[in-house]
Amino acid sequence: VIDMGQPEHAVVTTCAYCGVGCGFKAEMKGEQVVRMVPWKDGQANRGHSCVKGRFAWGYATHKDRITKPMIRANIQDPWREVSWDEAIQYAASEIKRIQAKYGRNSVGGLTSSRCTNEETYLVQKLVRAAFGTNNVDTCARVCHSPTGYGLKVTLGESAGTQTFDSVMHTDVVIVIGANPSAAHPVFASRLKKRLRQGAKLIVIDPRQTELVDSPHIKADYHLPLRPGTNTAMLTALAHVIATEGLIAEDFVKERCEIPAFEQWRAFVSQPENSPEAMQGVTGVPAEDIRNAARLFATGGNGSIYYGLGVTEHSQGSTTVMAIANLAMATGNVGREGVGVNPLRGQNNVQGSCDMGSFPHELPGYRHVSDNVVRAQFEEAWGVSIQPEPGLRIPNMFDAALEGSFKALYCQGEDIAQSDPNTQHVEAALSAMECIIVQDIFLNETAKFAHVFLPGSSFLEKDGTFTNAERRISRVRKVMEPMGGYADWEATCLLSKALGYPMNYSHPSEIMDEIARLTPTFTGVSFARIEELGGSVQWPCNEQAPEGTPIMHTDAFVRGKGKFMITQYIPTDERSTRKFPLLLTTGRILSQYNVGAQTRRTDNNMWHSADVLEIHPQDAEDRGVNQGDWVAIQSRVGETVLRADVTERIQPGVVYTTFHFPESGANVVTTDSSDWATNCPEYKVTAVQVRKVTQT
Ligand code: SF4
Repeated sequence: VIDMGQPEHAVVTTCAYCGVGCGFKAEMKGEQVVRMVPWKDGQANRGHSCVKGRFAWGYATHKDRITKPMIRANIQDPWREVSWDEAIQYAASEIKRIQAKYGRNSVGGLTSSRCTNEETYLVQKLVRAAFGTNNVDTCARVCHSPTGYGLKVTLGESAGTQTFDSVMHTDVVIVIGANPSAAHPVFASRLKKRLRQGAKLIVIDPRQTELVDSPHIKADYHLPLRPGTNTAMLTALAHVIATEGLIAEDFVKERCEIPAFEQWRAFVSQPENSPEAMQGVTGVPAEDIRNAARLFATGGNGSIYYGLGVTEHSQGSTTVMAIANLAMATGNVGREGVGVNPLRGQNNVQGSCDMGSFPHELPGYRHVSDNVVRAQFEEAWGVSIQPEPGLRIPNMFDAALEGSFKALYCQGEDIAQSDPNTQHVEAALSAMECIIVQDIFLNETAKFAHVFLPGSSFLEKDGTFTNAERRISRVRKVMEPMGGYADWEATCLLSKALGYPMNYSHPSEIMDEIARLTPTFTGVSFARIEELGGSVQWPCNEQAPEGTPIMHTDAFVRGKGKFMITQYIPTDERSTRKFPLLLTTGRILSQYNVGAQTRRTDNNMWHSADVLEIHPQDAEDRGVNQGDWVAIQSRVGETVLRADVTERIQPGVVYTTFHFPESGANVVTTDSSDWATNCPEYKVTAVQVRKVTQT
């Protein structure tokens, strides 16, 4: 820790890393942050934090910050620093030129889960009202879009059901496709506390994570399934519950649609869905699956926590629905200690989805084809809105390559590094005529940009983030924007230049507009958040003026819960003679996603590297020793990493992180994606690994 002297005052704000949403006091000396102290009254973290939130904020004033707008006619040209006015006018003229030539649907925009609710709301409003298209999407597309889809279909709301505190009332926990010790550390601490009190734990993960076996925690069951077989595993668990008389019949009868339930019961009860039948698919002994299912169904309050290891698959949405099925079948929804809990990756993934960032949904998850909803927004915004959904991110790339999509406004997202199949993404970006990047750093996507607008960090703006428990927390400005404008102000400048002025003097006015237009937010305002101690969980409205810690208590949001058939369909990404191993990806505690922030801190502990975990048997077969360079080749690309030979990973599977651009994990990931939402299948890529000599 660098001693920067004694603070003079403090400002309470919210961490800009993960979906736990920890409250912090930014202790200040003049305009400078001295240290970030976990806020003891923070309702998500209660005085706790992890190393990222506490020590990794130095990126906000890093020398790499770009503080001047820049433009260039061609991406081969050098950047030219210009005034804000010139950059905005140039961007607007390009958008107008391209729409005049190719039509209004030839442009689009991307919102960011790094930005505030108010900023994402404004970007989707800019795209719909000023661009006149529904071509808006969000980086949640590539992480939790299956959560939005799967939970809406089954339970009626695209969000987790609980508070983090709820875990202290649970008796048996399933953690599937998540490594909270690395990705959601403050929640993991609370979970481990409950486990030490005696709660039981079932971990479903191809890899031996810290929760499986560490000095203080040992899972009761670890089901180390093959990557890509989540749906098979959950269906097998459901088979045991349905065929051994473990269904919570009263709950189902009272709370769920019975015809759909009976169809589901008949489906999961089929012999081909038994643990014995699925053993060959998942690679997990049938007896372990049976015992885990019995424990979950009979162990008291049962809760399910899941992460990107569930969603980032070709059956991501199916698996989310299978999780909801399991919770309903065992009566584990609607009270403390139970529930379906997506562990959201970024600080504002939940919020960016809530704010209407998807091409088919207006704020509050309401479909653009709904005439009543659309009319409400059309009246408020004074424009007409297209009734047809716009393009998702991968569709934008495809349309760019086909020649019909020509311009993109990209706020706070580095698609060139974070989206799969880098070669495909770069080809699509190269095919566009105008890319406007708004970011705090000159990121990989900016290499393809024509306009760069300086972004603002979380320290430079007011607003709100919404965490994984639907908690809307205040973000407070502690320093002036280094580039002159907060992101929401820059969006307003662009909108005005396009002839659609959006006039707000403060983000609180944007939230007031969101509240007027969104039924689940009608009780939300900055003043109300203050009154409630700094945060509130939506829905917050007339029916729930204090917010809603636990959803679906008396009835599901959709009325009756709906069971869905979750037929296991193998992914195309399966091992072959040419690509015999399955690559899966994840995160480490000290780094964050593509590392844009954590790699730019002065703390030495951040400086590690991505490595490839490989089982000793697979390493021996290839003559690979600890620390050797290895090439990973998939059907779309190849990259080189150092090998970490370890039994944490099972034979036939290799694992890496994607925090360093030079490692290029996404050079090998493919554009295989979830059938319902196009969320990329980052978690399964068939690869070959061979030893190489790195020069
Ligand atoms: Fe920030 Fe998440 Fe760490 Fe909390 S747990 S300090 S929100 S990164």
